[in-house]
Amino acid sequence: MSAASAARAVSHPNRQVVPIAELAAFQTELLSWFDDSKRELDWRTTRDPYRVWVSEIMLQQTRVATVIPYYRRFLASFPTIHLLAKARSDVVLRHWAGLGYYSRARNLHRAAKEIVARHAGKFPRSLQVALQLPGIGEYTAAAVLSIAYGLPHAVLDGNVARVLARLGAIRGDLRRPSRWHALGRSANELLATQAAGDWNQAMMELGATICTPRAPQCTKCPVSRWCRVHTLGIALRVPAIRRKRRSIRVVISAAVLLDPRGRTLLVSNEGEHSLLFSGLWHFPAVRSAKPAREKLARYLRECFGLSTQLEPLRTARHTVTFRRIVLAPFLARVPKLPRASGARKPSLTNLERIAVSSATKKIASAAKAALRA
Ligand code: SF4
Repeated sequence: MSAASAARAVSHPNRQVVPIAELAAFQTELLSWFDDSKRELDWRTTRDPYRVWVSEIMLQQTRVATVIPYYRRFLASFPTIHLLAKARSDVVLRHWAGLGYYSRARNLHRAAKEIVARHAGKFPRSLQVALQLPGIGEYTAAAVLSIAYGLPHAVLDGNVARVLARLGAIRGDLRRPSRWHALGRSANELLATQAAGDWNQAMMELGATICTPRAPQCTKCPVSRWCRVHTLGIALRVPAIRRKRRSIRVVISAAVLLDPRGRTLLVSNEGEHSLLFSGLWHFPAVRSAKPAREKLARYLRECFGLSTQLEPLRTARHTVTFRRIVLAPFLARVPKLPRASGARKPSLTNLERIAVSSATKKIASAAKAALRA
């Protein structure tokens, strides 16, 4: 089909994605494919709402392979919602350190406390009530309620939206509110209500493993006979590629202070670096256009009353959403660490016991490598 005629054949977003008369066959195909082909994942062996919820939060914006070890460690330390609710927030954050998007961990912890205090430790079964909890949006609520309780709520995330758009040959920006809303309606129309949890996971699994953004494997797809873009030969053109936000370059110069006992100084101010270090403990640092020894030395003098030599270390790269960050660490050997309210003074070789971000770990690695050399 020519590009022009394919474009004309594209559907209106409100059209039924799969004809009602064929819905039962469509559902059977997808569910049996999921049954046969699904990846064996820890969170698929449980219907415990707490465990399902933890997995759904961890999986947001994060690859399955990355999540698995975090999920295991987290549940080994907090096997019940009551233990999570009772935990200190820095201990919870320490278990999240390296997984990124730390507001997820803070909200998970706050929501656990609320569920224990107001819902007798049980994840609410009502969609409206679940949506009141910190960090729970439409997607997470629908996922937990369908998988844990079998309630008929369809999920809509990027994977499901792409599958729906391709099945129905729906063009345009899927995240446009009216289009996203229409996709939500389509997701609910297709939902196999008698197996809502499996159905939601099957749709997501299809998007994650077969109907992938850049290389849909239509010949292996269990629902290809209902797929309009496959019929039209335009699978790669739907959905339209979203224009990425332009990335910006940020340079962070950080001071690794080191006393004769091997201890260093970490701060957790909520100032300009809070976002870049996810609000976690971090080395004293300044932001600039290029590695900035002078600016960092001035900052140490003004904030900590410290005048010291700063030895440049190897730089490291780090990315947080659209920010490309260059980490420029400097080592400063000091006879005594300065006094600073709210600061911590751990051993440089033992930062695992503290909630620090991946950026801070990279800076610490550069310092440890220099000390070993
Ligand atoms: Fe996606 Fe191809 Fe299956 Fe259509 S046939 S849903 S484009 S994998």
